[in-house]
Amino acid sequence: MPELPEVETVRRGLEPALVGRRFDHVDIYDPRLVRPYDPAEVAAELSGERVASVGRRGKYLIVGFETGRVLLIHLRMTGSLRHARRGSLQDDPHRRAVVNLDNRSDVAYRDVRRFGTWLLLEPGELEPYLDERVGPEPLDTSFTAARLGERLANRRAPLKSALLDQRTVAGLGNIYVDEALWRARLHPLRPANGLDRDELRRLHRAIRATLEKGLERQGSTLRDYAAPDGASGSMQDEFRVYGREGEPCERCGTPITRIRLGGRGTWFCPECQADSRGD
Ligand SMILES: [Zn+2]
Repeated sequence: MPELPEVETVRRGLEPALVGRRFDHVDIYDPRLVRPYDPAEVAAELSGERVASVGRRGKYLIVGFETGRVLLIHLRMTGSLRHARRGSLQDDPHRRAVVNLDNRSDVAYRDVRRFGTWLLLEPGELEPYLDERVGPEPLDTSFTAARLGERLANRRAPLKSALLDQRTVAGLGNIYVDEALWRARLHPLRPANGLDRDELRRLHRAIRATLEKGLERQGSTLRDYAAPDGASGSMQDEFRVYGREGEPCERCGTPITRIRLGGRGTWFCPECQADSRGD
């Protein structure tokens, strides 16, 4: 699933392709993409809109139009966007929508698992929608260790589960949480509200460093993720724990362990991420 670095990489690729362009014609082939709304109606509403901005909040892409309306795109598991000159895109059985732009180029949306969503919001609807669902942006300067501590203060859930909750911090998913916890030397099952000040500082620094590394590597390419120009990311070459069960920890040589937590694979080093509760 694309996480903050992957979605931000997509945003950076789309911005120059979309800003200033008009949606001439839109086809939505899969009703799941816009449900409960009618795909033909949504496509008709989008046609004629001119793009003013391409933003991101957490894992949401925000295509802002000059009218103040917004198309909110969530890629979920396997969504991806591709921008190309008209006529140059190959046939794709997993294509769910196509936007024809006014400069003879197209943006195609592909989604194998079909969990992705497009939601057209009217002016004024975006902020309340996001405020309910998404916590602070971890790379903003306003996100501090103290702020992270506040977000975790009332959470008795395992630390990893709390960090996966988008209302705690925006944009983290299974990969970057495991990587950040390794970097911070924190056990994924520690109670989220049990970190001391030093541990919070380490976690805060680790979250930012891990995401920044992901951005630098243009995300990780595991399954269907690709940037809008078709390029792959290389963050997967930087993974210290994710998917590395049995391989030696880079810091201490202990084999990486895998457990399941909330149905998700979770990788950590049992030595340098020891559970400090002593059990
Ligand atoms: Zn280790």
